[in-house]
Amino acid sequence: MSPDRRALQLAWDAYRAGSVPIGAVVLEDGRIVAEGQNRIFDPRPSEDVLWSTLLAHAETNALAQLPVVHARPYRLVTTLEPCLLCTGAAHIARVAEIRYLAADPYGGAATMTPVNLAMEHAAIRVEGPLDTMDARLAGALVIVYLEEQSLWPRAREAFASSPAEPYARRLLTKGRLGEHRRTTGDVGELMGAIGHLLR
Ligand SMILES: [Zn+2]
Repeated sequence: MSPDRRALQLAWDAYRAGSVPIGAVVLEDGRIVAEGQNRIFDPRPSEDVLWSTLLAHAETNALAQLPVVHARPYRLVTTLEPCLLCTGAAHIARVAEIRYLAADPYGGAATMTPVNLAMEHAAIRVEGPLDTMDARLAGALVIVYLEEQSLWPRAREAFASSPAEPYARRLLTKGRLGEHRRTTGDVGELMGAIGHLLR
C-alpha cells in the first residue's frame, strides 16, 4: 500500500470513528515508521495519542510517535495540507519533507513563511496539493464532514473554492457514504465502490 493510500485509510478510519477525516504517516527511508489520525471528536480514550481535544490532529499524533534521536530525515505524508500546529510540529520533529494530498484553503499553513531562525535553518520541502484519485477523495471527505456536522462555517465557506468541491457534491448525492461508513472498513474497497464519482 502506498503512503498516500495508507494516510487515506487513516482518514477514513477517523471519519468512521466520528472525527474529521484526516490521516497521516511518517516515512523514514521510504518506510512507514509512524501513523496518526484526527481524533478531535473521537471518543475512544488513549494513553498514547491526543484525543478529544482540538489539538488531536493526525499529523501531530503521528509525529508524536517518533523517537527523540534519529539518523535519517523524516517525510510526512498527510491527506490534508497541514495547519499551523502541524507545520510547527513538523519543524520541531525535524521533518525534511511534507507531502499533502488535498489543499486546505482555510487552515492550511504548509508553506508558511519562517517565523524564527530554527525554521529558516531547517526549511521543509513541500509537495502538494495533488490531483490524484486519493487526493480527490481526501479533499472531498473533509468537505462532506464539515457539511454533515455543520462545523466551522467559515471553513465550509473557504472549502467551497476547493478543487475537491465537485467531488464532495457527487459523494453527498450519489456516494451512499452513510452506508459505506457503517459497512466498508477498507478504503481500497470504498474506492472501488465510489471511484467513478471522482473522475
Ligand atoms: Zn493540524
